[in-house]
This record gives sequence, structure tokens and C-alpha cells, in this order.
Amino acid sequence: MILEIRLGDVVKLRKPHPCGGYEWRVDRLGADIGMVCATCGRRVLLPRSEFEKRVKMFVKRGEPSL
Ligand SMILES: [Zn+2]
Repeated sequence: MILEIRLGDVVKLRKPHPCGGYEWRVDRLGADIGMVCATCGRRVLLPRSEFEKRVKMFVKRGEPSL
């Protein structure tokens, strides 16, 4: 499955962050995906392949980019 990842996407991961939060907002696209924990505000970078493995669902979609 190929995910179309957009800036501003809010995703729910399969496993919680140590803070207990499941939801993250995507703030950077590229070879690595940057995302911010919606619960504690921590920011992480994940390789795209790792991101795709961890995402369970989209909570909210960002605007499509051209
Ligand atoms: Zn967190």
C-alpha cells in the first residue's frame, strides 16, 4: 500500500508515544517524515517506510499539494 502523505495530516499510530498520545500531525515531507505529537508536542523524524508501518489511520487530511 502506498500512502499519500500530506502536510497537515493528522495520523493515529498503532502504538502510543511514551506520553500516552496516539495522534501526530505531519509537518515535514521528504525522505524523512516530520511529525509532532498532538499530546506532548515532541517532534520526531521518521523514514517514510517506518512512518508507513506505524500509521494506523488518518484522523484528518491535510490539503493536497500541487
Ligand atoms: Zn507525545
